[in-house]
Amino acid sequence: MDWNKLADALIKDENVKPLEEYEKQYPERTLEKGAQVTRLAPSPTGFMHIGNLYVALANERIAHQSGGVFYLRIEDTDEKRKVEGAVDVIHKSLKYFGVKFDEGADLCGEYGPYYQRQRAEIYHAYAKELIRQGLAYPCFCTEEDLEKIREHQTENKLLPGYYGEFAKCRDLTEEEIYANLAAGKKYVIRLRSQGDVNVKHTFRDEVKGEITVTENNQDVVILKSDGIPTYHFAHAIDDHFMRTTLVIRGEEWLSSLPIHIELFKVLGFRLPKYGHNCSIQKIDGETRRKLSKRKDPEASLNYYREQGYHPEAVRTYMMTLLNSNFEEWLLKNPETPLDEFKYSIGKMGKSGALFDIVKLNDISKTYMAKLDEKEMYLFLKEWADEFGTDTQKGYFTAPIDFEHILNGVGEEFVQENAKREEYLCKVLALCMGVGGKKRRKDFVCAKQAVEMISYFFDESFAPVYEYRFVKGTVRKVLQGFAEIYDEQDDNSAWFDKVKKVAGDNGFATDMKAYKANPEAYPGNVSDVAEMLRIATTGLSNTPDLWTIMQILGKERTLARLNAAINAL
Ligand code: GLU
Repeated sequence: MDWNKLADALIKDENVKPLEEYEKQYPERTLEKGAQVTRLAPSPTGFMHIGNLYVALANERIAHQSGGVFYLRIEDTDEKRKVEGAVDVIHKSLKYFGVKFDEGADLCGEYGPYYQRQRAEIYHAYAKELIRQGLAYPCFCTEEDLEKIREHQTENKLLPGYYGEFAKCRDLTEEEIYANLAAGKKYVIRLRSQGDVNVKHTFRDEVKGEITVTENNQDVVILKSDGIPTYHFAHAIDDHFMRTTLVIRGEEWLSSLPIHIELFKVLGFRLPKYGHNCSIQKIDGETRRKLSKRKDPEASLNYYREQGYHPEAVRTYMMTLLNSNFEEWLLKNPETPLDEFKYSIGKMGKSGALFDIVKLNDISKTYMAKLDEKEMYLFLKEWADEFGTDTQKGYFTAPIDFEHILNGVGEEFVQENAKREEYLCKVLALCMGVGGKKRRKDFVCAKQAVEMISYFFDESFAPVYEYRFVKGTVRKVLQGFAEIYDEQDDNSAWFDKVKKVAGDNGFATDMKAYKANPEAYPGNVSDVAEMLRIATTGLSNTPDLWTIMQILGKERTLARLNAAINAL
């Protein structure tokens, strides 16, 4: 067989250059010894799974900790899965969680193009080379032919795939090949595997440790009929020419490892190191299963942005999943920047990482409690601007009216927003316990926090009053307090008035006396405070009520008490 002639007949790409040119174009990187080159190689489907963040963080940490490079390659060989704007989504969502690339798609870099579809010429050059060496061949099998092979293999309980006696096109004669070509039959290019499934090797996976890998004997497709490479082929070529030293990827690729080992070998490339990380799982009733894009909203990275989880909290939580010794480090170094933790690939979980939203929420609460009111204001504002309802946006920003559009936003608008900021900072300082003995840990994420403070805004204050006392008692308490309320009272004068109303209505004002004989009273002063609290906020549990009334101001406090009286 004249392999050179066949290679020319099968692959007609005028751009193909001699192979040495590619080696020259993409030289070995000049990096310090031990520096790792890693990458994230997602398909542009527009959906970012939490697993993408998990693997991105692992790759980013390894590269940056070692003084290496972390880049983004877009695996867009599957046209059907491609979604417009997906690369933007990848950049935005990862950037939000603090993962930044040094080079790659839509960034600069010497090793591009970083979109696989733009690299056709390199794949063609190497497919041609394999054909020339007799290591790849055209396959004319139709879908029906392949289906028949599959059926036969299933019926006879044989290993599936295109190999050995089933690799029908492997030994086509020159005449048969040219006759098929002349007849215009469609073809793919397959690897002529040299492997033997009876041979096993020990392989060191950076995550899983020593594993046994069986040699590949599948004549896998390397170029599809439209000349687009398969994942396997593009992976070998791109990771070679982008000079990746370590591939950390999902364990679903472990079963393809034998194919990749063979491809690197036949292409004459040095194999990178591999680490196959486990999938993220959750407990679902009695079982443990993978976090699923369809079933679990928390599988999507978007979910965390929409809920307004602080990126640093999510990152911290992900680190607990990624490295078993991270939590111990965090306990000892609660104030140290996360990037100072020495991430180790060997400490990644070998089986599934269990996703636990309760733990994420705990970490989030602790993180949120580290912010001051101004930082929290900025964080919540950013969230509300993007994800809040119109009412919630209005907590932060005054509406822009027609006049503003005509004349531009003026001084008045700026002042109005400054007033809103000042008000919000007071609310947040109270709700977060800033300046108190102990910080409150009520806020989990922005959505919940903004909902939690909604009672401070008349436009969203829609109380459902639920008192534990009969209407008549509540009325007397609320009226009694409204009559003597004075905004000028300090906390203790205010509390004396609450006590007075309590005493006037037969409630115990002395806790000792109450405890000694609870039957003698309808309740105590804290029950009275609770009635006032419900009337003012709609809630039975809030931060300090005196401060709430101070923030609301006299007019609004009295308006709320009166509204509550009228609602009885
Ligand atoms: N495009 C593959 C994926 O999204 C990349 C796997 C790899 O990292 O090599 O799963």
